[in-house]
Parts: sequence; structure tokens; C-alpha cells
Amino acid sequence: MNSSRVKKFALLSTISILFTAGLGCSTPQSKPVPQISAEASQSLETPAVSRSAGIHSPAEALAALQEGNRRFIDGQPFKANYLHQVALTKDHQAPFAAIVSCLDSRIPPEIVFDQGIGDVFVARVAGNIEDDNIIGSLEFATHVKNAKLILVMGHTGCGAVVGACKDVKLGHLTQLLDQIQPAVKAVKARYPQLTADSTAFQDQVAEENVRHTLADLHKKSSVIARLVHEGKLELVGGMYDVATGRVRILK
Ligand SMILES: [Zn+2]
Repeated sequence: MNSSRVKKFALLSTISILFTAGLGCSTPQSKPVPQISAEASQSLETPAVSRSAGIHSPAEALAALQEGNRRFIDGQPFKANYLHQVALTKDHQAPFAAIVSCLDSRIPPEIVFDQGIGDVFVARVAGNIEDDNIIGSLEFATHVKNAKLILVMGHTGCGAVVGACKDVKLGHLTQLLDQIQPAVKAVKARYPQLTADSTAFQDQVAEENVRHTLADLHKKSSVIARLVHEGKLELVGGMYDVATGRVRILK
């Protein structure tokens, strides 16, 4: 956090404490209210936004996401003041990571990684696959805006993966699910003992599909491949468990 931000936080905290204590109120009959707690005063801070500026490497970016997920599953997320974060980011953004995640309503990346406004780019599409639009978005996030990490995140109980395993045909969804078929074939070959309608099989496909997306990003984008080669960017896979909220980083 730079010095001007520190002063802003200190000023806001001071004003808040004065008003909470009734000292900023002109009506003497106002009821006294309890002193603001240290924890409550911290809610004026935007630690996630300020931390973004201090992340200089892909490893630090991954650590920041993992720490955020830890806060989330511990039930101790930062008390972010979103309007304050809006003010801090009104003229610029410097997100430290880009996350490619499934459309699934149970996996809002900013929440499960406890990040604030301006901290992460998020691209969401059913089955967390890549296409030219996703790749172009990630090239903007990394080459133009210097995000240091691309996390492709699949999840357990993925409807798109289940649909691919069952070879579902439906409107435009058909061509989307076709893009998951390479992962289905790979898992069928590796685990012939598993049936395609089993949870074990489908979760293996979800994980394999993450690896395919990572490989495709590297293969299809010379911009991304060059940043990785230069050590400015890392591509990492993850699996989100819809039962626990935990993200497991794939090795
Ligand atoms: Zn899904």
C-alpha cells in the first residue's frame, strides 16, 4: 500500500471512529454507540486491491489465489468495501491473474478466491474451454495488462462435462460439448474400468479437460507462449470441489 493510500485509510478510519463514537454529530442528545472495533475499521480497507500492486511474479499470483481460497473455506474473507474499491480502480486496472472458469453458478471466482474489484480477470464459459474469443481476452489480460497467471479451473459435478460424457446434442451446446470430447476419449482410454455415467469418470474428464485447455492455450497463442517462455506468465490448472469450496491446484 502506498503512502497516499495509507493516509486515505487512516483518514477514513478516523472519520468513521469519530462518527461511530458520536463525536462527529452535532446533536448532543444522540445516543452513544459502542466504539468501533479494530476489525470493523479494517472493513474500510481494500486489502485485495492494494495487494495486487505488490504481486510481481507468477508464483506470488498463485499464492495470492491460494491464500484467498483458504480464507474462503475458513469462513474468514476480507471485509471488502466494494464502493471504495470502485473508487480506487476508476482510472486504471492492474489485475494480477486471469481465471478461466465454468459457467456454473456455484463457482463465482472472485468469491471463492476472496478477491475484490480490479484484482482478477475472469472468463467464464460452460466447460471452461478455450476458443478464439477467450484466447484474445487472455492475450489482453496478460500481454496488455500484465496479469502474471492464467488459472484454468474445472470443477466436480460439471454439467457440461456430464453432457459431453453422455454425448448430449442440443442446439449450439452440441459444438461446445464436442470440444470436451478429446478429454472424454483420453479418460476412456486411461480408465477402461470406469463407466461414462459414473462420478469418478466424469470428474476425471473434468480434470483432463482442464489440462487440454491449458495445452491448447499454449499451443494456439504465440503471445501466451512467449510470455511463458520469458518467465512473465504461468499457466496453471485447478479443480474446484463443489462440496467443500476448496480449489486443488493440479501438478
Ligand atoms: Zn461446469
